[in-house]
Amino acid sequence: MSRAGSHRIPWDRITATIATRLNGAEGGSLPSVSAVARHDNDPFRVLVATMISLRTKDDVTSRAAEALLGAAPGPADLASLSEARIARLIYPAGFYRTKAANLRAMARILLDRHGGAVPRDSEELLALPGVGRKTANLVLNLGFGMPAICVDTHVHRISNRMGWVRTKTPARTEEALMAVLPKRYWIPINELLVRYGQTVCTPLSPWCSRCPVARWCGRVGVGRAR
Ligand code: SF4
Repeated sequence: MSRAGSHRIPWDRITATIATRLNGAEGGSLPSVSAVARHDNDPFRVLVATMISLRTKDDVTSRAAEALLGAAPGPADLASLSEARIARLIYPAGFYRTKAANLRAMARILLDRHGGAVPRDSEELLALPGVGRKTANLVLNLGFGMPAICVDTHVHRISNRMGWVRTKTPARTEEALMAVLPKRYWIPINELLVRYGQTVCTPLSPWCSRCPVARWCGRVGVGRAR
């Protein structure tokens, strides 16, 4: 079974409670892609930053994305750089050589097939090199303001701990969340849970004793409906 009884989940109270906690001292950092994209939520910036962010720490992603976008603010600029130059600009992002090749190829495809623009279509995005569901959804979500649930490790982990879904992979979590999560939360849930996952519901030792949504969390076995 991959979905919980959505009618019993007090989404408004849970998200408001987490947001209140995050606005306090334990707010955590803005996810790196959001921070880079925040200039104007330009889809190209979101796409580049997200491609760099995979298996890379947030602070490294921010620096690498700003360096690359400073040298190549658009697809034509990026396609004109050599892979070696791109790799140097995004170093020490994880798998920087592979990402450099994918970034350059992505820019080439944007120019050749999409008139130099980032496509606002999931299938077209998934056809770009180095772009998986997480990246595609984040581009649709942040770059185009389209409802899409971006499920990364934080969203996957917390959704399962809370008991909203029972899934083994982020892709399954995305499907299961789409069935239970009200649409108004599809865009903000990623940033909310990434920050919560960095600060309270951490991967190895979550701070359950300090968690203001513990009463609704399946992991601590207290039950949700109250
Ligand atoms: Fe995470 Fe623990 Fe809070 Fe549940 S109670 S959301 S596991 S920190």
